[in-house]
Amino acid sequence: MYTFNPGPAAVYPQVRQYLQDAFDEGWLSAPHRGERFTTLLRQTVTDLKTRLNVPQDYTVFLMGSATECWEVLAQSLTPTKSLHVYNGAFGEKWFEYAKALRPASSAVTFGLDELPDISKLPMDLQTDLVCITQNETSNATQLRDGFILNLFNRLPSNALLAVDATSSLAGIQLKYIKADIWYGSVQKCFGLPAGLSVMLLSPRSVERFRKINERAHYNSLVHQYEKMLNFQTNYTPNVLGIYLLSRMLQERAPIKAVHQHMTERATKLYDYFDQATQLTPLVQNPETRSTTVIGLQGAPALIDEVKRRALAQGLQLGNGYGSWKSGSLRIANFPAIPDEAFEQLVQFFAKEFA
Ligand SMILES: *Cc1c(COP(=O)(O)O)cnc(C)c1O
Repeated sequence: MYTFNPGPAAVYPQVRQYLQDAFDEGWLSAPHRGERFTTLLRQTVTDLKTRLNVPQDYTVFLMGSATECWEVLAQSLTPTKSLHVYNGAFGEKWFEYAKALRPASSAVTFGLDELPDISKLPMDLQTDLVCITQNETSNATQLRDGFILNLFNRLPSNALLAVDATSSLAGIQLKYIKADIWYGSVQKCFGLPAGLSVMLLSPRSVERFRKINERAHYNSLVHQYEKMLNFQTNYTPNVLGIYLLSRMLQERAPIKAVHQHMTERATKLYDYFDQATQLTPLVQNPETRSTTVIGLQGAPALIDEVKRRALAQGLQLGNGYGSWKSGSLRIANFPAIPDEAFEQLVQFFAKEFA
């Protein structure tokens, strides 16, 4: 059985052994104030930066989910308002969370096959944060480096750029210096069970939240910062999740190699689905297609039939999401899914839906 669900997604088979080791090594009741834990956390941060090519001067925080990251960014880095530029359900949810806390926040939407027009974005000196979703998991679109760089270069002097990279972080190489805040959770491209997210912050954004000094929440960024100076947390952390992350990172290839593998696999899949099947890619424009989540569209009855017959052969496809729920399906192209799974998937389509 292979799952192509884009989250919670397939985990690495090694996770089974890591879980056993965590139990045997006593991590499940290890005190989080002790040196054993702080050493683990320090090592995990170091390995994360090395494996993912994160600039050394970026700060790493671990939280519980990407949703928590949405809320924390509104609390601790948005005194006035944020601007949300999105085309799908996750970008919209982020906007909803931000608006609930900072009602002056606003949004600009764009289509699946287009890029937002940066010159028309309503950014001003009161805009604290500009928020984009690098990989929109709901509709399988992606914003490439070039767009992010252009946007970053045209921010008003006061604004920071925050990027939701939940379904691409650890799957492709991201240009971290071209934005201030990046985050994602581990149940997508990290190939791990849910319950942990990673946030990466530029020196400029650290300076900013320290200046704002918002302290009203247990997860306020200044609180996290002060604790992380000693690799501690102000609540009992997900030690098991951190342990699994550290084990996975130690075995992981550098992101450059992972990136190459994922982009080649995506190209092959799009080439195949562009021509050979009854379903077609949900996104027409090759420049806005995601490399880590492939969306396919078709009549709802056909989509159901494809999913049903795939499942009967041990291939679990991801459902459509949000407004694309009935007319599409999604295929995660994440590192923990082996090439054999995709070979079987293509054979399935070739045999049953060519
Ligand atoms: C999955 C996902 C989220 C939500 O992640 P949680 O860890 O469940 O909070 C947010 N944004 C994107 C782009 C996602 O793919």
